[in-house]
Amino acid sequence: MEVRSGDLTLPRPRHRRIITISNQKGGVGKTTTTVNIGVALALAGLDVLVIDLDPQGNTSTALGAIRTSGTPSVYDVLLGEISIAEAAQTCPDAPRLGCVPATIDLAGIEIELVGMERREYRLKEAIDAIDGDFDYVLIDCPPSLGLLTINAMVAAREVMIPIQCEYYALEGLGQLIGNIDRIKQHLNPELDLSTILLTMYDARTKLSVGVADEVRRHFGASVLTALIPRSVKVSEAPSYGQSVITYDPGSRGAMSYLDAAKEIAYRGAKENAK
Ligand code: ATP
Ligand code: MG
Repeated sequence: MEVRSGDLTLPRPRHRRIITISNQKGGVGKTTTTVNIGVALALAGLDVLVIDLDPQGNTSTALGAIRTSGTPSVYDVLLGEISIAEAAQTCPDAPRLGCVPATIDLAGIEIELVGMERREYRLKEAIDAIDGDFDYVLIDCPPSLGLLTINAMVAAREVMIPIQCEYYALEGLGQLIGNIDRIKQHLNPELDLSTILLTMYDARTKLSVGVADEVRRHFGASVLTALIPRSVKVSEAPSYGQSVITYDPGSRGAMSYLDAAKEIAYRGAKENAK
C-alpha cells in the first residue's frame, strides 16, 4: 500500500521496521539523521516512533518534546516502570510521529541496569509490548558502545550508520562492526547492518569525495545513493525545535533527507517482498 502526503509518496512496510542509528564516534549526524528521516517518513503518512536513547536528549529537543527531569521518559521505560505508550509524546510538527524522550535521568542508567535481570533486553521487551501499528521505530544511540547502545541493537532488526565525510571518518568503524557481529552472534541473530548514510558531505573538498568513494567501495550496496550535504540550515533547525524538513522544506538539506527517506522506504519494501 502506498501513502501520499503532498508530493511525497512512500510504501508502507509489510512488517514494522526497527532501525537503530548508531556510531560510537561523536557528532557524525546520528541525531540529525534520526530526526529528519523520522519526520520525512511521518509526513509521508507513515506511523513513526522515535526513541531517544541518548542522555543528551538532542533528538527530543529537535522533535519539540518536553524533557525536563521527571518527565515520563525512556529512563522509566528501561526500568520497567511505564510502557512506551505512556512515555511517548506527539511531535507538534508531525502528528504521526511519536517521540519517547530522554531526560537527564538517563545519564546514570547504565550503572543502575548493571545488577538487573535481562539488562540487554529491556528496550526490546518494551518495544515488543507496543500495541500501536508503528511502521517504523527509529532509535537514536549515544556516542558509545555501552549498555544503552546494546539495548538498541538487541531491540532492532536493522542498524543504520551515519558516516561523516571528514578526516578520521572511518576510524572506529571496525570496532562498531565487530560489536554488531558480536551482538548478532550472542544476543540478536536477526540484526542486519542494512544502511549507511554519508553525512556532512562537501563536494568542494577532495576529502569529502575521497571518504565517500572509500565508503562506497568498502560497503557497496548498503550505502544510500542520497548524500547529506553540509548545510547551515540543517544545523540551525534544532534550535527552533524543528527538523530541517519543516524548518526550510526547499533547502538542499531537507531535499537530501527526503531522498534518503525514500530510498530507505523503497529498499525496505523490496526486502519485505522477498
Ligand atoms: P552525538 O555523538 O553527540 O550524539 P550525533 O552523531 O548525534 O552527535 P548530530 O548531533 O546529529 O551528531 O550532529 C553533530 C553536529 O553537527 C550538530 O551540531 C548538528 O547540528 C551538526 N550537523 C549535523 N548534520 C549536519 C549537516 N548536514 N550540515 C551541517 N551541520 C550538521
Ligand atoms: Mg546524537
